[in-house]
Amino acid sequence: MLGNLEFGKSTITNKILNKKVRKEGEVSKKSGVGKQTTTDVTLYEIDEKTYLLDTPGFQTLDISDILSRDLGRYFREIKTYVRFCKYPGCSHIKEENCGVRKALKNGKISEQRYYNYIRLYSELRDGEKNRW
Ligand SMILES: [Zn+2]
Repeated sequence: MLGNLEFGKSTITNKILNKKVRKEGEVSKKSGVGKQTTTDVTLYEIDEKTYLLDTPGFQTLDISDILSRDLGRYFREIKTYVRFCKYPGCSHIKEENCGVRKALKNGKISEQRYYNYIRLYSELRDGEKNRW
């Protein structure tokens, strides 16, 4: 998607922003050793079925390029509470002692954001099943 080279990155982003899409999540990654370069990855919801990942300095990715197990990294609040999960690789859906679900219960994560996460997660899972 959006493979036309004549469209610059900012043009694409502006087009999206003009559509008043909601920002679903952001990830800040530190890249490089000793350098404080921060890369913001932003997940945009274009419509109910279309999500777009914006990775400045890199390519624009389709949501299906995300692995379901990595999805939590794109939701800032989920990422914050992942460290309280008992199991590594926790999907935050039905695991015991899940830090994310605890945070949801305590009102630290909004239900809407959590449901967006679950919806995307199951879509990605379905896609992965078809792929393998
Ligand atoms: Zn969890």
